[in-house]
Amino acid sequence: MTLTVQPHRESVGLKAGQLYLDGQWGPGSGGETWTHLHPATGEAVGEFAVATASDVDAAVAAARKAFESGTWSNARAGVRIKLLHRYAGLLREHAEELRALQALDNSVPLSFSGSIYATSVEVAADVFDHHAGWVDKLGGQTLPPYQGGDHLAMTFREPIGVVAAILPWNAPFLLFAQKVAPALAAGCTVVLKPSEYCTFTVLRMVELLIEAGLPEGTLNVVTGPGDPVGEALITHPDVDKVSFTGSRGVGRRIIEASAGTLKRVSLELGGKSPALVFADAPNLGLAAATVVGAVTMGLSGQACVANTRALVQREVYDEFLAAAQGMAAAITYGDPFDPGVLASPLINPRQLERVLGYIEKGKEEGARLVTGGERLGGDLTAGNFVGPTIFADVDNDSTLAREEIFGPVLAVVPFTDEEEAVRLANDTEYGLGASVFSADAQRAFRVSRKLRAGTIGINGFQVEPHLPFGGFKQSGLGREGGESSIEAFTELKSVYLPLTDEMM
Ligand code: NAD
Repeated sequence: MTLTVQPHRESVGLKAGQLYLDGQWGPGSGGETWTHLHPATGEAVGEFAVATASDVDAAVAAARKAFESGTWSNARAGVRIKLLHRYAGLLREHAEELRALQALDNSVPLSFSGSIYATSVEVAADVFDHHAGWVDKLGGQTLPPYQGGDHLAMTFREPIGVVAAILPWNAPFLLFAQKVAPALAAGCTVVLKPSEYCTFTVLRMVELLIEAGLPEGTLNVVTGPGDPVGEALITHPDVDKVSFTGSRGVGRRIIEASAGTLKRVSLELGGKSPALVFADAPNLGLAAATVVGAVTMGLSGQACVANTRALVQREVYDEFLAAAQGMAAAITYGDPFDPGVLASPLINPRQLERVLGYIEKGKEEGARLVTGGERLGGDLTAGNFVGPTIFADVDNDSTLAREEIFGPVLAVVPFTDEEEAVRLANDTEYGLGASVFSADAQRAFRVSRKLRAGTIGINGFQVEPHLPFGGFKQSGLGREGGESSIEAFTELKSVYLPLTDEMM
């Protein structure tokens, strides 16, 4: 039977996507549209407007006007807190619809978005609830006068201004929330650009925010591809801050583009995160299933923090590989609306070609292909499917071990002792995440402290709305989550006040 997502498109009532500028939905000034092709079937799912440079200008101008007017940042704290909580409630109410839209956008299966917290609608709602709590706590410090005498020295946190928030396609719920919630809590205004590969979900999330009562101009949306739409945004002189999640290459471009006006920049980029599996792992089978699951289930390895390098101690190497193969064999593909389907296709044909190219490179470089390595055929031929792929005996200096593949490809590297494990783990240009599997708590903490990565999981991994998330080295700049997000969307101001005329 040929795979089709058309009935679902009708059941969620998908309509053409528009821009949202200064409180109005509209088609954009150029009349150009982008047709989204479904990753699992190649079918046209829907169309949305491609913003022109003048639409981006209008979005930034609306955000600037709203920021200067203070309608949002100066509104009663109680009003803003309630709005953010109300929105969290709306997200929860519309969770099923949003998950269906996501399946139409990026083909992440409902089985995954309904069960894994980090990619759920619930996590987005929790992030909004969490940040609602910051609205009336953006405090500064009062310091004793350094020079003695009668004066006050204090600091204030002020909203950073107009924020350009640029999203990738892979985790729209969490990543929308990680940018929009703290930006709004801090009193900023926003111009949002979703990925061209995941637009419909984000537009619906915006509609719900409007329903929650967000004032006009506070959040504006421009849709379309990175070039020209994202480019127009990151080079815009009136944007104060770019908050970006996406690939390292675009992150570099954003740093370049920020130089002209010295924009503030936060970058959440890619990774080549290691899982360090020691012989004393409390449950080796579970460790293998966790590592392989993160590289195959749900997003098919198209997840920034997936542990795509498994460093495995020699004593348990063969046992790990056998368990890893067992897990790989259990992964199912197909219609994302089918509850039995566990993994997605790759997002587009370009990514499919890229991943197949890395698999060929791995073979050429002498790694041992243990399972997979091929595009899936049969009913799945029209989609961008690649099966779970495990390479053993991978050289940590090879392409497979060094580059972010963003596909269901696990590189397994053997190690002898703790020192070697840490050296191999840190021998990478990236530093987003890592996992340590060991029953020895002292070792697990010792190793965690030595790893040059932003988030470490010990015998498991979880995203928490109030914990900072971000990368060391080329995995990014800055942190998102909890208080670190508030810092990212505010400027610190020092105020000095003499209390007598003598101090002037
Ligand atoms: P991408 O860099 O291709 O695109 C991300 C966004 O940037 C999209 O909205 C795109 O349209 C836009 N863009 C592209 N070129 C641009 C330009 N010149 N100027 C401005 N905007 C531009 O990334 P992707 O394929 O959507 O996502 C995958 C990447 O994101 C991976 O590298 C992954 O590791 C990373 N990622 C990181 C995190 C994290 O939290 N660290 C989370 C998810 C994804």
